[in-house]
Amino acid sequence: TKGDIGLIGLAVMGQNLILNMNDKGYTVVAYNRTQAKVDKFLAGEASGTKVQGASSLEELVGKLKSPRVVMIMIKSGSPVDGVIDELKPLLSPGDVIIDGGNEDYRITNRRVKELGEAGILHLGCGVSGGEEGARFGPSLMPGGAPEAWPIVKDLLQATAAKTPDGEPCCDFMGSGGAGHFVKMTHNGIEYGDMQLICEAYSLMLAQGMDHDELAATFTEWNSSELDSYLIEITAEIMAFRTDDGEPLLPLILDKAGQKGTGRLTAISALDFGIPVTLIAEAVFARCLSALKDQRVRAAPQLSGPAASSADDRTAFLDKLRSALYAAKILSYAQGFMLLAEASAKFEWELNMASIALTWREGCIIRSAFLGNIADAYHKDPSLENLLFDDFFNAAITKHESALREVVAYGVLNGIALPAFSAALSFYDGFRTADGSACLIQALRDRFGAHQYELKSNPGTFIHTNWTGHGGDVASSTYNA
Ligand code: NDP
Repeated sequence: TKGDIGLIGLAVMGQNLILNMNDKGYTVVAYNRTQAKVDKFLAGEASGTKVQGASSLEELVGKLKSPRVVMIMIKSGSPVDGVIDELKPLLSPGDVIIDGGNEDYRITNRRVKELGEAGILHLGCGVSGGEEGARFGPSLMPGGAPEAWPIVKDLLQATAAKTPDGEPCCDFMGSGGAGHFVKMTHNGIEYGDMQLICEAYSLMLAQGMDHDELAATFTEWNSSELDSYLIEITAEIMAFRTDDGEPLLPLILDKAGQKGTGRLTAISALDFGIPVTLIAEAVFARCLSALKDQRVRAAPQLSGPAASSADDRTAFLDKLRSALYAAKILSYAQGFMLLAEASAKFEWELNMASIALTWREGCIIRSAFLGNIADAYHKDPSLENLLFDDFFNAAITKHESALREVVAYGVLNGIALPAFSAALSFYDGFRTADGSACLIQALRDRFGAHQYELKSNPGTFIHTNWTGHGGDVASSTYNA
């Protein structure tokens, strides 16, 4: 029988996706640049399955049903361009190329257009859930040529994770690079969630808690509104011990790595002018963590308060749980603001409820909370901001004071809380109807004649001769 899909790239993600698709009844043809990996896979993990191998791209394409569907699961960037260049002459108009890697959405925007000119339908498909997700049900975020969606919908939805209501965590996100943009934002939110958990960890350590107590606390939190995969695996990590019986976590060097999707989320936020402050702080926190040598030299030289534990640990941990929930609401509100802006800018018509459902299971940020976000956007698909939804409005109203107390505790005890503080500052800024930016406008006009609008007459820009000297000319070229 001819294959339903060809999959290129037999590293961890590719192999697991193939086995998953095979379980769902699809015939997959596998190819890898290094042929030995194909042979090893067929003789090993894939033995006894319907998976077929190919030793060249010609052979791969020749073994597929028409319209042919080829999924690329390799290192993103120029390697993918190389494979697409080789595939293009082998395919026919109406065939589909899916790129499942973590590609920059701007590159996907370009490829959808270029391949479209040759009649080839391109989808940039975000894949999340790591190895386990790929094997048993990832969250899939396809976007690109809309004509490709009916061709691959059944296959991708069968492969994807399912929500508790049985909905697939996979839907068509929008045209162009929409799928990869949604995946990028997912990863940015993941950076934010992880940073918040790390800050909670620092605050717990300041209470003198040992790793068993930490594990117990995160386990308990996982049965609260914080119920999520990241909290669940944090509890497991806290409990993990080396062969010598010591907790492993404090032995791990505190320098965080990153591959770039968080940074690209923050850059996109700056490009689009959307205050996605928590994710940006999470990226900077990783950068600061990487300056280990300087931090070690700074520690004995730079003064600050020594942390003292809170008087009532139980009450403090309750507040911390509330603060984490409040900060998470604010971070997701920011992430969805970014999605809304990109959607408007690129005319993607992103469906926020379906994005939330796509992230509900399978991916790294999967959580009960995403079900509440889906509900909010189902209730009102044109919801301007998550914080205006009744459920989230009530939740933030209930928990904001805990966030405030936890940030104040961190400030007074010398514990860095970049993500918690960013969340709180955003919240206080966002709920300020009349802010201080009038002064920014005045300063800009005073030093550079940049002009300002009056509250009584918005839309009309005027310049004041603040000093009584200098000309009447306003600046249109000097931008500071
Ligand atoms: P890697 O990113 O480690 O990529 C290895 C694969 O890329 C191998 O199959 C390798 O072939 C192939 N490759 C590298 N360069 C080339 C080239 N120039 N031409 C052809 N093939 C090439 O694999 P992963 O499985 O970790 O990830 C695949 C994609 O999925 C990446 O974009 C990644 O960002 C994304 N992703 C990964 C996740 C994860 O948890 N690992 C989660 C979600 C997405 P060869 O064997 O010949 O070297």
